[in-house]
Amino acid sequence: MSETKRALVTGITGQDGGHLAELLHGKGYEIYGLIRGQRNARKEALEREFPYVRMIEADLTDQTSLINAVLISQPHEVYNLGAISHVGYSFRNPQLTSDITAKGVLNLLEALRVTGQQETARFYQASTSEMFGGLDYNRPGNGYSEESLFHPRSPYGVAKLYAHWIARNYRESYGMFVATGILFNHEGERRGLEFVTRKITNAVAGIHLGLQDSVTLGDLWPKRDWGYAGDYVRGMWQMLQHDQPDDFVLATGETHSIEEFLTLAFAEIGVEDWSPYVKQDEAFMRPAEVDILLGDPGKAERVLGWKREVDFPALVRLMVKHDIALRSGEFLPGASER
Ligand code: GDP
Repeated sequence: MSETKRALVTGITGQDGGHLAELLHGKGYEIYGLIRGQRNARKEALEREFPYVRMIEADLTDQTSLINAVLISQPHEVYNLGAISHVGYSFRNPQLTSDITAKGVLNLLEALRVTGQQETARFYQASTSEMFGGLDYNRPGNGYSEESLFHPRSPYGVAKLYAHWIARNYRESYGMFVATGILFNHEGERRGLEFVTRKITNAVAGIHLGLQDSVTLGDLWPKRDWGYAGDYVRGMWQMLQHDQPDDFVLATGETHSIEEFLTLAFAEIGVEDWSPYVKQDEAFMRPAEVDILLGDPGKAERVLGWKREVDFPALVRLMVKHDIALRSGEFLPGASER
């Protein structure tokens, strides 16, 4: 009988952590999740939703705690999803973003190396399309690929670029199985309310149910390549099952503006002209904006056989439907944290 696979996941309380926990559990993995702090408000929700996840108290900025986590879990696969992941927040907290998002990956790689587990553990680093920056000069017509030039436009993007390169460096220096997934925006029912897609679908649900009158946003013209998070965590897992560690873009190959997202979301509740419901405020605009992101997932499709299942209209629909059900109280307590 083959040994049960063990996975260590940082960022288990985040959107991708939730989708990944479900996926790995379905595949029979023993899952260890890192959880931060003395009283993490998300801990109880996590225990309710994922009773099968074994939690280890650790912090990406605390080397000793990471060594301890690696020794306890003896992982076959490590998924580094933990980060300060919000671009707007990173402008307000650039140092904290560097400590966690950039240096955290180094601490975790070192924890594997000093415990002698660099050969047995496969490592996934969550890289991001924010590393590209969306400027005219580095924007390829058919979308950013693994070969495209980086020009990050936020403290988050800069920190993630360091993380991306140090992960690749450990692959090249120590022969570790380190895969990086350059993931374009991915959304869904677990997305935090601080991201524009979920902020919109949550508000559309509220307007539909008579719970709120409007939503206040920043710029509406930026374009993003938005996919479904459930499809993307499947890609992460596929990267670690591949025979070679490599870098892969996961994207849809389509880009849509926030205006387009608004149009589809409001159409779900039968509203054609959304302008009376949408206000704008500079507080939600950024010091430097990424105008347009478009990814080319060709390599992941060819090499890994990865394929997304949820397209843009289906993504918007599933998020609005979920939020209407959530805000009308259809879910049991516990699910409401989503
Ligand atoms: P990002 O692509 O990782 O920054 O994901 P976000 O969902 O945070 O932002 C996507 C785009 O929506 C960016 O261009 C933001 O400037 C824009 N945006 C417009 N209004 C808002 C808002 O109210 N909140 C957020 N988070 N983004 C907004």
